[in-house]
Amino acid sequence: METLAILVAAGRGERMGAEKPKAFLDLAGRPLLVRTALAFEASTSVDGIVAVVPAGLEEPARGLLAGLRKVVAVVAGGARRQDSVLAGLRCAPEGFTGVVLVHDAARPFVSLELIEGVVAAAREHGAALPVLPMVDTVKRIRANRVVKTLDRSELAAAQTPQGFRRDVLARAYEVAFREGLTLTDEATAVERLGGQVVAVAGAENNRKLTTPLDWAWAEVLLARQEGQR
Ligand code: C5P
Repeated sequence: METLAILVAAGRGERMGAEKPKAFLDLAGRPLLVRTALAFEASTSVDGIVAVVPAGLEEPARGLLAGLRKVVAVVAGGARRQDSVLAGLRCAPEGFTGVVLVHDAARPFVSLELIEGVVAAAREHGAALPVLPMVDTVKRIRANRVVKTLDRSELAAAQTPQGFRRDVLARAYEVAFREGLTLTDEATAVERLGGQVVAVAGAENNRKLTTPLDWAWAEVLLARQEGQR
């Protein structure tokens, strides 16, 4: 095995306001987790998939993913994103030295090109992530007051999949956990150690479905794609 994709789907998805975890909700007739897993199943750059789901939902998730040949494990996640990622990392085969991809299950429209680009950059440089330029001007705010306007030309929004050589991520995670850091993405752990993280071009469609409005956008996109077939 050369590349293992960890799909993190253990969040509560509270901002979606639904009755069950987001990954299990049907998006145009197919659960979100399945849609995202199928993107990695179809990628020739990916050999194995680990799904990290809310504790207690491992069995239903296994049922949903039963037809996917690359799924090697379905495990319970943890309280923080990084706890879920660590649970996934522990499923890597003994002695695995390849590339680990960490991807939000909430981004079902990830393309084969994007996956391939991140894997290649991670293999070459150790760590890579897709980014999009900022469209809004970004301010630092404290107590309802603007403290600073950041230079938009220097800013980018981080997407997933984020890719790492396994040793790079394992070492960075070990330090981050030891120091008690809370991470909102995986690359932060590598950056903290002074490691180089290469940015590749992200994609607008690779949006994280967070709110009901994102969900509505996804349904429109799928309906349009369906209509074009
Ligand atoms: O909360 P956020 O939008 O950053 O979540 C991004 C992804 O991380 C989601 O797919 C979510 O299910 C996952 N996650 C997780 N375990 C957590 C928190 C988030 O797997 N404890």
